[in-house]
Amino acid sequence: MINLKGKVSLVTGASRGIGKAIALALAEAGSDVALNYHTHREPAEEVATEIHKLGRKAVVYQADVSHHEENDAMVARIKKDFDHVHIVVNNAGITRDKSFVKMDREMWHEVLDVNLTGPAMIIHRLAGPMIEAGWGRIINITSIVGQIGNFGQANYAAAKGGLISLTKTLAREFARKGVTVNAVAPGFIETDMTALVPEANLDVVRQMTPMARLGKPEEVAAAVVFLASEEASFITGEVLGVNGGMYM
Ligand code: NAD
Repeated sequence: MINLKGKVSLVTGASRGIGKAIALALAEAGSDVALNYHTHREPAEEVATEIHKLGRKAVVYQADVSHHEENDAMVARIKKDFDHVHIVVNNAGITRDKSFVKMDREMWHEVLDVNLTGPAMIIHRLAGPMIEAGWGRIINITSIVGQIGNFGQANYAAAKGGLISLTKTLAREFARKGVTVNAVAPGFIETDMTALVPEANLDVVRQMTPMARLGKPEEVAAAVVFLASEEASFITGEVLGVNGGMYM
C-alpha cells in the first residue's frame, strides 16, 4: 500500500479534471495537499472540503502559473501554511488549437507560457528546499501529443515535448540529491479539455486506441501517486504513458 502520510503535495490546476483526481488520490494515499486554481475558487474549495473529509489538510491558492509574481506569492503562502513541499505535480495546462499557418503569436506564447514556462518556474522555486531536504518528487503532466505530435496543436505539442525534455534534464541534475523528476503522458482522457473535441474526432481516437476508449482522470492519478511514492525511488527521467496503448 502506498503511504504518503507526512508528505505535502502541490497540485496545479487542481479544481477539476485530471488535477482534481490527482489531488484526491494523493490525499487518499495520506498526503496533505496545496491546491492551486486559476479562476474558479468555488470548485477548488469543494476539492479541499473532500480532502478534509479524508482527514487531510488542504488549502486553496489562486495563481496563474504563467505569472511570475503570482507564483512567488503562492509559493510564499504555501511555505507559511505547510512549511515544506515534498511533492510537486505540474498539471495545469491549456490548449489553443489552430493549424500552424493560421496560429497567431499570442496563441503560441499563451500555451508555451502556461504549459512549459509555468512548470519550469514552479520547479525553480521549490526544488532548492527539496534538494536541501534530500527528498522530493516532481511530476510533470505532459501529453501523448508531446510524444507523437498532433494536427492543429503545434504550440501544445512543442510545450509538452519541451516539458518531457525539461523532465529528463532535471532528473539528471537532481538524481544524486534524492529528488526524482518524472512525467506522466496521458492519451485522451474524459475531461473538460476533451469535451472541446468534436465527437467524430473522438471516434477516430477510439479507433486508434487499442483499448478502444478514452481514459478516466483517476487512471492518470494512479500513475502520479505511484511516481510520488517511496516505491518509485529508483525511477527518474521516465515518461509514463497512460494512453490505453495508443502510443507504445
Ligand atoms: P482541464 O481543462 O479540465 O483542466 C486544466 C486545469 O488547469 C483547470 O483547472 C484550469 O483552470 C487549470 N489552468 C489552466 N490555465 C491555468 C493557469 N494559467 N494557471 C493555473 N491553472 C490553470 O484539463 P485536463 O484534461 O484536466 O488537463 C490537465 C492536464 O492534463 C493538462 O496539463 C493537460 O494538458 C493534460 N492532458 C490532458 C489530456 C486529456 O485528454 N484531457 C491528455 C493529455 C494531457
